[in-house]
Amino acid sequence: MAIKIARLELANIRAVHAFAKAYGIDCESNPCGTTDVVYDAKQWEMAQEAVKALQAAMPGDDASVYAFHSSEEVRERFYCGKGGDEGVCGGVSYEAGSINAYKFTIGVLMLCLEKGLNLQTNTPVTSVSRLSEGGYQVGTPRGTIRARRVVMATNGYTAHLLKRFQGVIVPLRGHVTAQRPGLNVPKDGLPGTYSFFYEKGFDYMIPRPKGCEFQGDVVIGGRLSSAVSEGLYEYGSTDDTAEDEDTMRDLHNTLPWYFGDNWGDDHSEGRVRHKWTGIMGYSPDGLPFVGEMPGGKDLWVSASFQGHGMAFCWMSARALVEMMEGRDDEELRRWFPGVFRIAEPRFDVKFDGRMPHTHGESPAIKQ
Ligand SMILES: Cc1cc2nc3c(=O)[nH]c(=O)nc-3n(C[C@H](O)[C@H](O)[C@H](O)COP(=O)(O)OP(=O)(O)OC[C@H]3O[C@@H](n4cnc5c(N)ncnc54)[C@H](O)[C@@H]3O)c2cc1C
Repeated sequence: MAIKIARLELANIRAVHAFAKAYGIDCESNPCGTTDVVYDAKQWEMAQEAVKALQAAMPGDDASVYAFHSSEEVRERFYCGKGGDEGVCGGVSYEAGSINAYKFTIGVLMLCLEKGLNLQTNTPVTSVSRLSEGGYQVGTPRGTIRARRVVMATNGYTAHLLKRFQGVIVPLRGHVTAQRPGLNVPKDGLPGTYSFFYEKGFDYMIPRPKGCEFQGDVVIGGRLSSAVSEGLYEYGSTDDTAEDEDTMRDLHNTLPWYFGDNWGDDHSEGRVRHKWTGIMGYSPDGLPFVGEMPGGKDLWVSASFQGHGMAFCWMSARALVEMMEGRDDEELRRWFPGVFRIAEPRFDVKFDGRMPHTHGESPAIKQ
């Protein structure tokens, strides 16, 4: 199953960039390498173990092409500085990419509109009820519609309409900033995207690619552990109009810590250009829910992508359509991980605290 997930992630990244290119969607698509820079000895040990297991399980596969870097190499090739007491333990790089998700989504919606999609913006669905004759009635503040089939792509908000997902897909608020690069950051920009792993969690970062507005700006998010009780209360939050001040403060300060002398003095207009929050959907087993609702014929779901949907949504949607069109066959089972499918027993596992793999060691699952 792990092999299928690793292959799906890479296939998804490639498919999104290929689609953007094929349809000329202007979305800052940048297929590039990424580097995980590790600042904690235990995490570094775990990273090496995980990558070695992956490579042993799928030798020669594109999805297992990972390269290790010593701390010196991380400093020289990726410009990372000392960073805390322990400094850089090492790094590992592999194929990834960055994209402007908003522009990509708008591009896809434009193509759908050309094909006759009826798009109603600012129109929340307030109810989905099954009709006795089959199909569904979908309620909104601007009226109701009837639908033969319904697809819920509502991610962190799914439980509001489908109560069975209460405690099963839980919203989590994430924080992001866009920062002007420090004066010592290479003028040609940083080589690829990065994630930074420290004792209590991780931050993830993309430099805005060449040729786009604000090129070279560093977009960095994370710092969940900075919020109250190491981010525990960010779970359950659906308010993306507000922010946690401690998280934003630490995101503001984190880049000089990671890049050390290679960051240098701040840009004369200040470090942070923009900051925002957004809502993700987390499940206790850390996996998406894709498929038809048990006992809910013609009610389909593709949701719960954790903080990693850019690498899974696209192919999950493709798998969902295969299922909806009656092609749930051997071929689909070959590439789509069975653990991503909606299955009755997954509703019995309820969320009870933070995810173990978001940071820390706290147990999250209550049976
Ligand atoms: C701050 C932040 C940073 C992230 N960074 C990364 C990253 O670096 N890499 C990565 O892979 N992923 C990242 N993610 C996660 C990624 O954005 C998500 O996994 C992905 O957007 C999920 O896509 P989706 O379409 O399933 O759900 P969403 O993008 O959450 O979209 C769900 C949509 O449903 C709508 N909706 C919900 N309920 C209703 C309703 N009742 N009526 C009408 N509409 C409704 C919402 O308004 C929303 O537009 C990040 C997320 C956040 C918040």
